[in-house]
Amino acid sequence: MAHSFPQIGRPAPPPPGPAASRLAPSPTGALHLGNARTFLVNWALARSRGWRLILRIEDLDGPRIKPGAIEQTINTLRWLGMDWDDGPIIQSHDLSPYRQAMERLARAGLVYPCELSRSEIEAVASAPQEGSHENVFPAALRPPGIGPRSFDDEQTSWRFVVDQTRVGFIDEFAGAQEFDPAATIGDFVVWTKRGQPSYQLAVVVDDHRQGVTNVVRGNDLVESAARQLLLYRALGLRPEPAYLHLPLVRGQDGKRLAKRHGDTRIETYRAAGVRADRVIALLGRWSGIEAGESLSAAEFAARLDASRIPWTDVIFTAEDDRWLRASP
Ligand code: GLU
Repeated sequence: MAHSFPQIGRPAPPPPGPAASRLAPSPTGALHLGNARTFLVNWALARSRGWRLILRIEDLDGPRIKPGAIEQTINTLRWLGMDWDDGPIIQSHDLSPYRQAMERLARAGLVYPCELSRSEIEAVASAPQEGSHENVFPAALRPPGIGPRSFDDEQTSWRFVVDQTRVGFIDEFAGAQEFDPAATIGDFVVWTKRGQPSYQLAVVVDDHRQGVTNVVRGNDLVESAARQLLLYRALGLRPEPAYLHLPLVRGQDGKRLAKRHGDTRIETYRAAGVRADRVIALLGRWSGIEAGESLSAAEFAARLDASRIPWTDVIFTAEDDRWLRASP
C-alpha cells in the first residue's frame, strides 16, 4: 500500500552549489584496509568528478569514541594522500540542527518517546532476519494515539513511525534497490536516551544541510539508505542524494574485515615501515585498477573506473598481508 507522508511546513529549498560528497568516518576504531578502501574510492570519485568533498566526523557514538581517535583518523586519511574542501565538521559540537529536526517530526506526529528496554522489545520481537543483528520493533509495542506533540524529553529514546511501504532507489553500483523498512526494522530510534540523535537522523540532517548530493559508502549501509529516505520524505528535504554502495572487504572466513583477521589497521602497517603507495596499490587492485608495486593517491583517482570495481566482496588474505609487509 502506498504511504504518503504529511509535508511539514514548506520543503527546504535544494542546497545551493555544486555536487558534493563526504568522508564520514566514525572514530570508534582505527581505519583498517576495509574502510580505507571505501574512503579512498569516495575521495577518488569526488576528485575525478568534481564533487566538493566534506570531512565529517561521526562521533555521536558516545562511549565507543576513544580519546585521540579523531586526530588519528584525520592523520591516517592524510597519510594515504586524501584531502577535502570542508571540515572536519565534528557532529557532537552542535546538536541544535538535530533537535530542530526532532521538533518538526514531533509536531507532525511522526515520532514518539519510547522507554522500553531491549529485553522488553526482544520478548515480543521475532528473531532477527538472517545476516542481521537487529530485531524488528514489533508494531504491537507502538503506543496508541500517536499525534502531534512537542519534542520535550531529550533524555528518552524516541522512535520514528514506520508504516508498511516500499522504498526504492537506484544505486549507482548495486542497481535498483527496494526495501520495506516496516518489515526489516520497524519503528526505529531517531533520538537516544543519551540525549543525542541516532546515526540515521544525524546522517540525514547533515547530508542535507551540508549540501551532500552523492553518498558513497560500504554496502553494509544499503538498507539504511531506505530508512534515511523515509526521514528525507518525512522532513520534506530535497534533493535526495544519489547512492553508491560498495562491496565490503572480508576475511577468508567471509566475515567483514575486523580484529579477528589480524591487525589490518593502516597505522600498524605505517609503523612497520610500509609506504602509503604500497597500501594504495593493494587498495587499487581491490578496486579494479591494475596496479604494480606502488600507486599514489593521485594515480588511483586518475585510473579508477567505478564500472570496473569488482562486484563481489574483496577477500583479504594472509598473502596480501605478507605482500604489504615485504619491501619495497
Ligand atoms: N560513519 C559511518 C562509518 O564510518 C558512515 C556513515 C555513512 O556514510 O552514512 O561507517
